[in-house]
Amino acid sequence: QAKTIGRNTYSFYHSLYGIHNLDTLTLENSLRKAIREEELILHFQPKVDLETGRMIGTEALTRWNHPTFGWIPPSEFIPIARETGLIVPLGTLVLEKACRQNKEWHDKGYKDLLIAINVSVLQFKTGDIVKTISEVLDKTKLEPHYLIIEITESVLQDVEESKEIINRLGALGVRVSLDDFGTGYSSLSVLKHLPIHYLKIDKSFIADINMTDQNIVKAIIEMGMNLNFKLVAEGIENKEQAKFLKQHGCHYGQGYYFSKPMLAEDIEKQFVIREEVRNV
Ligand code: C2E
Ligand code: MG
Ligand code: MG
Ligand code: MG
Repeated sequence: QAKTIGRNTYSFYHSLYGIHNLDTLTLENSLRKAIREEELILHFQPKVDLETGRMIGTEALTRWNHPTFGWIPPSEFIPIARETGLIVPLGTLVLEKACRQNKEWHDKGYKDLLIAINVSVLQFKTGDIVKTISEVLDKTKLEPHYLIIEITESVLQDVEESKEIINRLGALGVRVSLDDFGTGYSSLSVLKHLPIHYLKIDKSFIADINMTDQNIVKAIIEMGMNLNFKLVAEGIENKEQAKFLKQHGCHYGQGYYFSKPMLAEDIEKQFVIREEVRNV
């Protein structure tokens, strides 16, 4: 794993990909251009209160609308953005776009909507993420407690000062969510002392839910509730999964069953979620 950004990481990436050197370089340059020329488009996926069926907010998920290749998913360009350090300017751009959009929704009268943004390890390691977030909040006039920063457990392992950063985010009023929970190795004693609001159960435990997964999910929910976290399940694809999660006390859900990630204009049409979804 590359430890620094800039030239070192750059050459590391090259040697790693060997034969794809040219592609990588081309990709890096066009990603740089994408950030500059607004080719990165946010899609938003509703987060639903499993009890009431109401949309409580959305998660911003970035897609690259490439002029010749079309829509490119984050699994393709986030790794390149990480390796080249472009994740930092990309992250700032995403943060600003998402906060601005959410503030616009507030101004349109949807006052309680939350917005979640994914932040990668490198953004935690580079520069001052708390300062960046605080500046973006000032600029967009979004109140801090509507912003949720989604980090993965790896942030807690990788970045020595991550606890301090999370504490500073908490002091700012921003909420923190632990994404893909259950796939890493977080120690509960560590989590307990951090201002983390949400545990987001990884979708691998939700999709094709089987007996073992059910027991894991039940255990995560129970443990999370005892520690006062709000539980979120991602990757809910059908009614049975939604029902199971609701029955076991999971607070919020996200997934194709409720809605795919979509453009802001289409989200607005979903502000009232379908009745049958409400009654899971
Ligand atoms: P994530 O934050 O865990 O996001 C959940 C992923 O699951 C998203 O994939 C979403 O589209 C997908 N998903 C949602 N509902 C379902 C479902 O019902 N079934 C299944 N199978 N999948 C579902 P996506 O948009 O391709 O994003 C993948 C990952 O890329 C995200 O995982 C996140 O870690 C990262 N990512 C996306 N946007 C950004 C960004 O702006 N910045 C950073 N640093 N990372 C991002
Ligand atoms: Mg996420
Ligand atoms: Mg996730
Ligand atoms: Mg993920």
